Amino acid sequence: MSAPWQKDGYEAVIGLEIHVQLATNSKMFCSCANQFGDEPNTNVCMVCLAHPGAMPVANSEAIRQATRVGVALGCRIPETSEFSRKQYFYPDSPKAYQISQYDQPLCAEGLFRVPGEGGFDVRLTRAHLEEDAAKMIHAGGEGGRISGSAGSIVDFNRVGTPLLEIVSEPDIRSPEDARRFLTLLRATVVAIGASECDMEKGSLRADANVSIRPIGSSEYGTKTELKNMNSFRFLERGIEAELERQLEVVLGGGTVQQETLHFDPVAGTLSSLRSKEQAHDYRYFPEPDLLPVHQTEAGLIELGSDLPELPAARFDRLVAAGLTEPTALALAVDAGLAGYLDAVATATGDLKTSANWTMGEFSAHLNGAGLSADQSPVTPERLAALIALVVDGTINQTAAKEVFGVLVEDAQATAAGVVADRNLAQVGGDDALGEIIDAVLAAHPEEVEAFKGGREQVIGFLVGQCMKQSGGRADAKALQGLLRARLNG
Ligand SMILES: [Zn+2]
Repeated sequence: MSAPWQKDGYEAVIGLEIHVQLATNSKMFCSCANQFGDEPNTNVCMVCLAHPGAMPVANSEAIRQATRVGVALGCRIPETSEFSRKQYFYPDSPKAYQISQYDQPLCAEGLFRVPGEGGFDVRLTRAHLEEDAAKMIHAGGEGGRISGSAGSIVDFNRVGTPLLEIVSEPDIRSPEDARRFLTLLRATVVAIGASECDMEKGSLRADANVSIRPIGSSEYGTKTELKNMNSFRFLERGIEAELERQLEVVLGGGTVQQETLHFDPVAGTLSSLRSKEQAHDYRYFPEPDLLPVHQTEAGLIELGSDLPELPAARFDRLVAAGLTEPTALALAVDAGLAGYLDAVATATGDLKTSANWTMGEFSAHLNGAGLSADQSPVTPERLAALIALVVDGTINQTAAKEVFGVLVEDAQATAAGVVADRNLAQVGGDDALGEIIDAVLAAHPEEVEAFKGGREQVIGFLVGQCMKQSGGRADAKALQGLLRARLNG
């Protein structure tokens, strides 16, 4: 755990509710396309528009994906789960209820580990399947919000999209840890391919339950819910702002009211959306048009064995192999880059050097070009061949960076070919380096005197001059040794 949020005798108590849109081909209870960004109201049918008599059919792929997420999050998967109706009226729900799950969720209690220095565990209450609501667009309001808008229009393309709601216990003790937890959880869902979890597109949405209590107390204070923070940074800042607000209320002698709040990331302010409903307000009851979901032990074992390496396990593996924790964490949450590194390291047999190149030159190239690892012209094989030339001493780091630049520009070039064409092979050997050193020392008698007079740092200048003389190709380590020997001799 990073340092817990504690102020004036109070501590933070934070839980998250995370909605993940599952990346299925079709919607949760009908065969409409589950597709973001299409022409509004084109992916709709009688079922998702709730025409009378239309019957839902549960999407088995959504159930499979949701179960895989549950297994990956360390949840218990009950043998039977059940869909329920959650009653509410709002224009984004044509049925006037949402098909969700209530007392028999698909995934029951779990435990999620955030690894690394200051790592911590978060208990998961449950993860259940439900259908998303339609998207409402509030025209004329500020930032698309309802307050001040002239009218609202509804796009039903999103209604009925499969959603997995993941609920954590209030085990998180600082805004920063909330962000860490969500980062790793997102990476886990992405790694198993259940969702792209793009916060900007709304396929990952996070609400935070926030309260404060006297340090050491085992009871919970009244919580408020922060809705739909659409970036990791806003999540952290929103929680921070709400903790400060609650502290001010309590220190001022007031009591925190249970309510739902919106965080405005631009102004940094919180505004009340509504007083929070209780579960009984929704009058949940079992959905009569859908059968319960049954899981078999054999099916679950198969799902579990089919999971890829998960971020926490990848982090452990990379740290055990000698990478630093920040590097391992960056790779743990980026499956594309981690897969790339694995391929490079397999070819070179040197994980550390491969990681330095993958996180250094290669990542900079990806960021600059806006590419993902698998889109880069520099395949793992091409980079591995370059690294091999550095490791065996054929070229130095400076030349290697030049070669890398050529590999990016010319997809046909090979590292060895570029080294030959540009005459980049390292100048090593005492004779060749000796000649260069002689020339440089002869040209800089004042610096030589200064060194002999005790100004050791002059050697940096002389190395630089020799390197320049060699066209950047000198073996830096051999050069240093030889130069020092010559100056001291
Ligand atoms: Zn439909």
